[in-house]
Amino acid sequence: MSRASTSISLVTTVQNFLTPLAVPFGTPPHGFGSRAIAAIPVGTSVATFGGTALTHATFARYDAERRSRSIQVDTNLIFLGPPKREPGDSINHSCEPNCGMRNATTIIAMRDIAIGEELTFDYAMSDASIYDEFDCNCGTALCRGRVRADDWRLDTLRHRYTGFFSPYIQRRIEAERHRSLLTKRDVEEMLATYDTEPLMALRNALRKCFGMPHATWETLIELMAKQPDEISQLLSLNTDALDQLVGALNETRGAGL
Ligand SMILES: [Zn+2]
Repeated sequence: MSRASTSISLVTTVQNFLTPLAVPFGTPPHGFGSRAIAAIPVGTSVATFGGTALTHATFARYDAERRSRSIQVDTNLIFLGPPKREPGDSINHSCEPNCGMRNATTIIAMRDIAIGEELTFDYAMSDASIYDEFDCNCGTALCRGRVRADDWRLDTLRHRYTGFFSPYIQRRIEAERHRSLLTKRDVEEMLATYDTEPLMALRNALRKCFGMPHATWETLIELMAKQPDEISQLLSLNTDALDQLVGALNETRGAGL
């Protein structure tokens, strides 16, 4: 076999990973899942996601089916799954899951999983985007009814999923501990700098509010703004949007961010 044909066959057969201890099931439009066909011990890596890293703006252009096969890996980066469904793409959300995150793209068993059980993880372990909110019908006793972008902030989930959040969510959790309101002096500094260096003034203030001393302007805006219009205006440094933000920070000192 030539080197060229070997490369082609590798490219065409590589797929994301589902443990051989489970199989995917389901057909459209009823949804997909993966079920254990053998006992799966706690700690087993059961699936990995692959894909292309996209910003929210680009991600939003894809259809709902494709977007359902995705995972957030950073504030404004989402891995979008391949064009065709692959074995590792079929791990559903549950509010009472048996799996968690080992890293940004790998799912592991949080407990021993019996034959016949569906493999599930809680999307709050990996996603914190308003684009991913949905009404949940997982049917478990712990079902939250709606899965929201801020669920990772819930004390109950933080305790239940300790060690099973993705690195991105774990960073958000750690940053929360350093969040603070702006002091009177912070506000005075922000206002004194704003006329000549508006971007620097606002970035420094938001970094303090979010407890992220090294965050970029783009990251801070993604964390703060809820509406796409607001995000794009702030990212393009629209004067009215910046004036509104500095006014809000002056008034609230960052409360409610
Ligand atoms: Zn649920």
